[in-house]
Amino acid sequence: MAWTGDPTWLADVLRAEGLKVIEQGAWLSSGHDDFSDIRGVLCHHTAGGGTSDWLIVQNGRPDLEGPLAQLVLERDGTFRVIAAGVCWHAGRGSWPGWPTNNANYHTIGIEAVNSGTGSQEWPAVQLDAYKRGCAAILRRIGRSANDCVAHREYSSEGKIDPYGIDMDAFRRDVQKIIDQDPGGDEMALQETFKNYKGETVTLGTAVRYMDEYINQIREQLGGPKPFAGWPQLDDKTVVDSLADAHRKIDAITTAINGLTESFGSKAA
Ligand SMILES: [Zn+2]
Repeated sequence: MAWTGDPTWLADVLRAEGLKVIEQGAWLSSGHDDFSDIRGVLCHHTAGGGTSDWLIVQNGRPDLEGPLAQLVLERDGTFRVIAAGVCWHAGRGSWPGWPTNNANYHTIGIEAVNSGTGSQEWPAVQLDAYKRGCAAILRRIGRSANDCVAHREYSSEGKIDPYGIDMDAFRRDVQKIIDQDPGGDEMALQETFKNYKGETVTLGTAVRYMDEYINQIREQLGGPKPFAGWPQLDDKTVVDSLADAHRKIDAITTAINGLTESFGSKAA
């Protein structure tokens, strides 16, 4: 199993999936230990249901030191990124392909805000974000929806979370999102080709320089942002100012030609 280290990419991967993300201050240095490899996602509910549930996940409980999970999913579909290191969320249990009683060291925990008693619905926006968040993580670690697991499916300690979510249907939807693979665009940017100087560059590098140079040329022609023209050209762009100069030169030439003909005829 390849060493993948801590998931310092969590916020980026979720944002790339189009999800709302709040990064809690010290998340990159939070956690109880470093990951060796990440094999899946363990899905939980907070068993609270309020807007301050995330504080418990971050800071812990009297009987368990925080952080308690890498991610909190708010009811409006926003992900709070709490920690990049190992968190205490899994407890004892097993799942095919995961080390028994050691899921904390091999899974990312998502604590979704819900009372966990059936008294709260799962809002569509939260459920949609839950599936897309799981899919984005699994795609990043090269795993399928089979490694998207409910705490109650893993646990040998009688856990019930996430209450009210049909995990087989959930996994089918997660796999569909994984298969859509918006990561394809990112892959395309890694493709290389020879540029006009004959250098081998990636498409991403080429796009970066195109953006810079095209905007420099646009500013030179049109004036500084937002292209209001140049003060020394009476707030005209280079092209409009040149056209004006041409018109003036034409008018002067016509006038001179007229004077020359007039003097010529008197001299004769
Ligand atoms: Zn749980």
